Amino acid sequence: MRSMAKPTITPPPAAAPRGTRPARPAAKPAAGAASRDPRPGIGGMVPDDVADLVAELGEPAFRARQVGDAAWRSPAAEWDQVSTLGATLRLALAERTRFDTVATTSVLAADAGATEKALHRLSDDRLVESVLMHYPAGEGRRERNTLCISSQAGCAVGCPFCATGELGFERDLEVAEIVDQARHARRRLAAAGRRLTNLVFMGMGEPLLNLDAVLAAAEALTDPARFGLGARHITISTSGVVPAMERLTKMRPQWTLAVSLHAARDPLRDLLVPLNRRWPVADVVAAARAYGQETGRRLSYEYVMIDGINDTAADADAVVRLLRGSGAHVNCIPMNPVAHTPWQASTPERVSAFAIRLRAGGIGVTVRRNRGQEIGAACGQLAAEQAGEPPAPAVARRRERLVAESAVALRGERSAAPAPRGLQPAPRGRQPVPRGRPPAGGSRPRKAR
Ligand code: SAH
Ligand code: SF4
Repeated sequence: MRSMAKPTITPPPAAAPRGTRPARPAAKPAAGAASRDPRPGIGGMVPDDVADLVAELGEPAFRARQVGDAAWRSPAAEWDQVSTLGATLRLALAERTRFDTVATTSVLAADAGATEKALHRLSDDRLVESVLMHYPAGEGRRERNTLCISSQAGCAVGCPFCATGELGFERDLEVAEIVDQARHARRRLAAAGRRLTNLVFMGMGEPLLNLDAVLAAAEALTDPARFGLGARHITISTSGVVPAMERLTKMRPQWTLAVSLHAARDPLRDLLVPLNRRWPVADVVAAARAYGQETGRRLSYEYVMIDGINDTAADADAVVRLLRGSGAHVNCIPMNPVAHTPWQASTPERVSAFAIRLRAGGIGVTVRRNRGQEIGAACGQLAAEQAGEPPAPAVARRRERLVAESAVALRGERSAAPAPRGLQPAPRGRQPVPRGRPPAGGSRPRKAR
């Protein structure tokens, strides 16, 4: 599926929404795709909505708690399996709501079972992925089971090393579609006697371009009466949507914010994270620092390492200059190989030299190992594969373009290409980024080919 719709960044309202808020529909459904199921997912409904529904169905109020328990505590995977509710009520609930908004079409295991990737089919046949990673207990650490979830189908930002970026933007996920990835993982873990300990928004999509739904999902996931995960166990990763970062800062949440840095200098970041053409790296880091100061949370930066592109000593020095003194921590991640790029992962020697240079500059570093390469665990890879290969000439053209653009970036020149559509180009010459609400976009995203 290669159709795209506009990545609307319509200003979000001041407060997180209550209950299910229908996601913005994709401007153009994929050819042949099923239409979306209009019934709200129970995983996206707040307790008051459930109470209203139960009352509308003419049931006594205590049923609302039973319905909530069925959604959040039982091993059931559909209304029909909820034995605590009568058949008539189950049928009425199934008519009005969906117990589950994401079907799992396949679960692929890798790393001797320590990594599991689930491919989820949505009601309109869009595909999104979640990845479950098991970290055994050891050296004073408890066992961890971390789930990486998606916030959008596809992504408008278009980072060229990312399989999701290659897909382009399809649509925002609904609150329940986000939450249900976690409910699925919890059921799978419970069957193995394990529990979910951490959740990261590092799957498909840019969470801060679907912020209302992500906030409502995070609320459901951390509500003790619903999913009940500790807020400190949630990490939201962003490629740098500055106004949304500022909005988050005002809310002072306890989540960890991870920023996808990938380059400390604008010319290279323009290429690797095209959003940088709208919000340059210094503004992104300033917004991240403000978040860290307000929330008291440590900041973490992701740095995907691409051989000969962003892994030189000069790149490391630029990272040190940018982040010095902020208490930031950098996670260096060798690029997972994805199709359609001319690039390779940095060698272990280069990753290690880079990390040593950062540490020498006073920056905390962790070198992350790639998980599940054999199952395409870089999020978006499976969905991209399902979408089918673009024709070979298009792949060749894309590779040639990236070679030419990286040569320009490595010469230190800013990109002449526009920011992803819907995001206005950054003003040249260090003008301040406008505060507050981002401009609403009006056009469809650029598709780099
Ligand atoms: N859109 C958000 C969150 C989803 S991407 C963001 O970009 O932060 C989550 C992380 O996966 C990002 O740090 C991203 O850079 C990384 N990633 C994407 N493609 C990758 C690849 N091929 N190899 C390694 N990491 C990758
Ligand atoms: Fe989107 Fe993140 Fe992939 Fe960039 S790395 S294209 S922002 S999902």
